[in-house]
Amino acid sequence: MNRTDGWYDVEHLSAETWRIIEGEAYGQYLVAGSERSLLVDAGIGIGDLRGLVTDLAGTPISLLLTHWHWDHIGNAARFADDGVSIHPADCGADGRVALDGRSDEFVDRPDRFVERWRARGNEFPDGFGPDAYTIEPVEAPSPIEDGDRLELGDRTLEVVHTPGHSPGHVAVLDRDAGVLYGGDVIHRDAGVYAHLQGCDLQAYRETFARLIDLRDSGAFNTLLTSHNPPLTGSALDVLDRLEAELQRILDGVADGERVETDWGPADEYEVDGSTILTHAAI
Ligand SMILES: [Zn+2]
Repeated sequence: MNRTDGWYDVEHLSAETWRIIEGEAYGQYLVAGSERSLLVDAGIGIGDLRGLVTDLAGTPISLLLTHWHWDHIGNAARFADDGVSIHPADCGADGRVALDGRSDEFVDRPDRFVERWRARGNEFPDGFGPDAYTIEPVEAPSPIEDGDRLELGDRTLEVVHTPGHSPGHVAVLDRDAGVLYGGDVIHRDAGVYAHLQGCDLQAYRETFARLIDLRDSGAFNTLLTSHNPPLTGSALDVLDRLEAELQRILDGVADGERVETDWGPADEYEVDGSTILTHAAI
């Protein structure tokens, strides 16, 4: 046990995979291999994630970031000694991974989280100082690209470039287990967040087409994302619905509704219980 174990909600999904939730909403995954282990994403950076995953994994841990958004890089700097991987298109102009790396839209997120967490009457873990809470940058991340193989000993994973939510968004495919670690490719409530800076609807539609091909060829049957429970079986039909609706939006024939979000106005499209959020200008 480390001192912030109680902060995380840890679910053992299979012999080698853990789903780790921080702050009730921010997910990351640990995949344990015989030689190395892979942590996919690093949460919002309040708990001692490094201590937690070191206890679970049993082999040295590499961190891969699916993308640069604040709720995926929180604890990344604490893994810098062992290498932190990210697609170069999600690094800032200075090559770093940082809270303000590619835009200012996430700079206020840590403070907002603290405010909302307190307002709901929740506690922080012992030893955490909300007033000093910040997300440290990773100065020299390692670049990853589509097709890169991640050797963990008894398992080999594969990087799949999945742009749309961000330019350098990647997923990680475990063909043997039939699992795709998909980051934010599908966002909260099985929807799409395409209203942030750097989101690209055309790239997003092509990403869904590729994921549908991978699913249909049997490369994966379970999609593990940061903000949803595991999606498996018929729940993966959501890929087809979202791809089709993105095409309708691109064609200008979808009906959206203007809504207010934490990031300003956006257009919202409903698809069988999922929502797609896009830039209001479209
Ligand atoms: Zn994101």
